[in-house]
Amino acid sequence: MATQVQTYKFFLNGKWTASSETFELVNPASGAIIGRVPRASVEDMKEAVEVARKAFEAQAWRDMEQTKRGKILMQIAALLRDHFNEISELETLNQGKPLRESKADVAWTIRAFEYWGGAADKIEGETIPVTANRLTYTLREPLGVTAHIIPWNYPLALATRSLAPALAAGNTVVAKPAELTPLTLLRVAEFAQKAGLPDGVLNVITGSGAEAGRALVSNSDVDGITFTGSTETGRQIMETAAKNVTPVLLELGGKNPNIIFPDADLQKAAQMAKYAIFTNAGQMCWAGSRLFLHDLIYEKVLAELKKQTEQIRMGPGLDEKSELGPMVSKDQQERVIGYIKSGVEEGGNLITGGQPPEDPTLHKGFFIKPTIFAEVNPKMRIGCEEIFGPVLTVFRFSAVEDVIRMANDTRFGLYAGVWTRDLTLAHRLIRELQAGVVAVNDYLVAYPQTPFGGYKDSGIGYESGLQAISHYTRIKSVTVNAS
Ligand code: NAD
Repeated sequence: MATQVQTYKFFLNGKWTASSETFELVNPASGAIIGRVPRASVEDMKEAVEVARKAFEAQAWRDMEQTKRGKILMQIAALLRDHFNEISELETLNQGKPLRESKADVAWTIRAFEYWGGAADKIEGETIPVTANRLTYTLREPLGVTAHIIPWNYPLALATRSLAPALAAGNTVVAKPAELTPLTLLRVAEFAQKAGLPDGVLNVITGSGAEAGRALVSNSDVDGITFTGSTETGRQIMETAAKNVTPVLLELGGKNPNIIFPDADLQKAAQMAKYAIFTNAGQMCWAGSRLFLHDLIYEKVLAELKKQTEQIRMGPGLDEKSELGPMVSKDQQERVIGYIKSGVEEGGNLITGGQPPEDPTLHKGFFIKPTIFAEVNPKMRIGCEEIFGPVLTVFRFSAVEDVIRMANDTRFGLYAGVWTRDLTLAHRLIRELQAGVVAVNDYLVAYPQTPFGGYKDSGIGYESGLQAISHYTRIKSVTVNAS
């Protein structure tokens, strides 16, 4: 794939628009500059919200026959399918993840557009029995203008997860991709226009969080905000939104437990424990970053995991043989190295990795070797904070009640994995784990049709699944007196 430096524009009211300031995009595997994108100003973002408001009021989208609206979303999916390899390569070039992971993300994105395309004409109200002479029912109406703030770890899939249901429900959208990874969403904007989405219905504005992002979420003409990112930024956004009483859906961080009991398929559990932390170089809110191993199998599983981890092929994502790519940025690499240092200082037992690779061909990229700390305790920073890198922390347990307590002893509550063949035990953990999603004998599974959201500091509300539509619509309760 050619890597010439291109200057991109953002997508506003169906037109490609430049801005006076730009920022550089970097290939995380090599440090090379791959493009420049506009740094939208506060004024640009204000205009984007005005454009989206006008498009909403023009009613071309809101009042389009729902089936037709759905077909446009299906057509975006079809265009993504036609450009599957190109989009996957673009995601890897910009974000760094191995190509096979980008392909999985693009496949997920296609399914999500199809799912919400199919759902567009099934957003229903209900009738409510009250008295014989009254007909009472609910209407589900779009909110209006929805704002979408996107992170850099799954740039395309997470953008789609929120804007596809918003569009299906008839809203008009202003989306701000993360400053590091805007390229695939800009391409989707192009496909959306080709698919027949009216101008102004989807606006993709590139810019910084501090300027463009803040300007978007503080705009009183925004009717709903979806934010996926760190808990810290989510909290700030919620405070800002409170001033305008704007509803927020927050998908935030995680420090997720992955628990292996002695009766599990240990080979499979060890292999999946590896995927659960090293996929996307660990830059995942749902990473299985805390592995709990039962005392009876602790040494055996850890040895297997160490062996498998040391066989992982690290390299540029665009090389089909690579299994682990770089961190998204130099800053992220330094942040993760800082956590590894703190783990060593606090007495963690570093059993593998812990530094950038020796291979000189990888030195310009932002790589970190897959890392495992054993005998971690929850007081260590690496044991309680979200690292967002390829660093696994391993804990030992023997009693079930202890592992439940330790698993829940975190401010997060996004995802949890449980490995056992004992159904009674599995059900007990399903009930008692404070996590929005629990996977039994599985990990890293999420479909467009399954709700995804967090307990505690991991967020508010649910993305994906039909429940998500409740965030992108409001209910009007109607009573007709027929007497
Ligand atoms: P981040 O909070 O730094 O940035 C996310 C987005 O918010 C970016 O687009 C950024 O430009 C924007 N932003 C930053 N400050 C803003 C502000 N004041 N107002 C408006 N927008 C602002 O997060 P990140 O580093 O991009 O992503 C990593 C974090 O995201 C991790 O904590 C991870 O766990 C979390 N995450 C959660 C989920 C989930 O579904 N729960 C999914 C992916 C990532």
